[in-house]
Amino acid sequence: MTNDLHPALVPIYETVLRRNPGETEFHQATYEVLESLRPVVDKRPEYVEASVIERICEPERQIIFRVPWVDDRGKCQINRGFRVEFNSALGPYKGGLRFHPSVYLGIVKFLGFEQIFKNALTGKPIGGGKGGSDFDPKGKSDAEVMRFCQSFMTELYRHLGEYTDVPAGDIGVGGREIGYLFGQYKRITNRYEAGVLTGKGLTWGGSQVRTEATGYGLVYFVNEMLLAENTTFEGKRVVVSGSGNVAIYAAEKVSQLGGTVVALSDSGGYVVDEGGVDLDTIKDIKEVRRGRISEYVQGRNARFIEDGSIWDVPCEIALPCATQNELDDAAAATLVRNGVRVVAEGANMPTTQAGTRVLREAGVKFAPGKAANAGGVATSALEMQQNASRDSWSFETTDDRLKEIMQGIFGSCMMTAEEYGMPGDYVAGANIAGFTQVADAMLALGII
Ligand code: NDP
Repeated sequence: MTNDLHPALVPIYETVLRRNPGETEFHQATYEVLESLRPVVDKRPEYVEASVIERICEPERQIIFRVPWVDDRGKCQINRGFRVEFNSALGPYKGGLRFHPSVYLGIVKFLGFEQIFKNALTGKPIGGGKGGSDFDPKGKSDAEVMRFCQSFMTELYRHLGEYTDVPAGDIGVGGREIGYLFGQYKRITNRYEAGVLTGKGLTWGGSQVRTEATGYGLVYFVNEMLLAENTTFEGKRVVVSGSGNVAIYAAEKVSQLGGTVVALSDSGGYVVDEGGVDLDTIKDIKEVRRGRISEYVQGRNARFIEDGSIWDVPCEIALPCATQNELDDAAAATLVRNGVRVVAEGANMPTTQAGTRVLREAGVKFAPGKAANAGGVATSALEMQQNASRDSWSFETTDDRLKEIMQGIFGSCMMTAEEYGMPGDYVAGANIAGFTQVADAMLALGII
């Protein structure tokens, strides 16, 4: 399907399909960006002439490696590790590591591709990359997770550096994993190179607000969308999918701004608490005990639904914060029927192409992850900045910077959408604003 693409971009997309067979998530992510570039091709033909778009779709480097480790029974386990260093026109590769059994090259590539434009939108000097492994941390002991992380870093370290490639967390990679990864990097290199990983603990080089940043940033972005419609979070019903890092802190900021989060989920089902989900309990289950969301309903007036979709829960604002393609056209149609006004992506590409179409055609305000969840990486860039200057800022200072950055991203999406004749279209605004920044740098740097 190439009918929505500018004719000049059809051969580029066909090359992506041919070069990356079976990598459906990567195809989806490239299609979405190429689709938005229709007006750019007419206005700036030099991007096609200098093959900038074609080059941007091909990663600069892809690393795949074996990760052997020994489990608690003394048995050797093998996983596969990945790092896709996608684009370094604006700065060192930057993007998280994902540990989840579904990880394969196509997922890492889609995430790395999105990361290029997201990082450009933050206005920080960072390129795009992503990595991970098909390792599943669920059900593993701390010692197993540590041995896995050490083995993973024993290969990856040679590709990293504060001026080269700077990973962070993502699904399945939180503070514990970053600690083990950083420890091994430090041991192998004999350098305390704090700026080589972000998401570090506060006592050893981490930044205030990094834990909260993606969720808080998402809600700051949505707040700007609401203000543009002359309204606020006050009194609104909100559904947030997932109950990991992004979901928990999105829910926290929604509550602080007067909204009520009535549902959260994990891969086992979702909970509905009409009075507002109690986040202290969720944090205890997820961050302390590493338990299941079903445990939330014990002893309280709330429901756990194992089969079904969290998007069946009526709300005015929906924030998908779990994983890719979790909100399809049927779920989007249900949300629309139930009166949703705003959908903003905390996860990366959580809405399918068909789902996005349903929402946009129904006039729902829709914010793509590239823009709306950029607060995490933006705060990672602030962490790098603090590491480079051997400084650490207060929570308030860092949170103010995050808010400013999210307002800036919102403004640039709005202005760019207007400039290209699509006012209010945050998808076009984000894709075009991110793309043109990277493309201009690539033009300046010559054919490399
Ligand atoms: P976490 O691992 O902390 O949490 C992920 C949550 O999503 C968990 O509740 C998990 O449930 C659920 N989930 C994951 N995979 C699936 C699946 N296949 N089906 C159903 N539920 C699933 O990850 P994060 O919160 O860090 O990341 C969530 C999303 O946000 C991802 O798309 C990530 O790429 C994106 N993101 C994260 C950033 C960050 O700073 N952390 C920055 C920008 C984007 P369960 O525990 O049962 O698996």
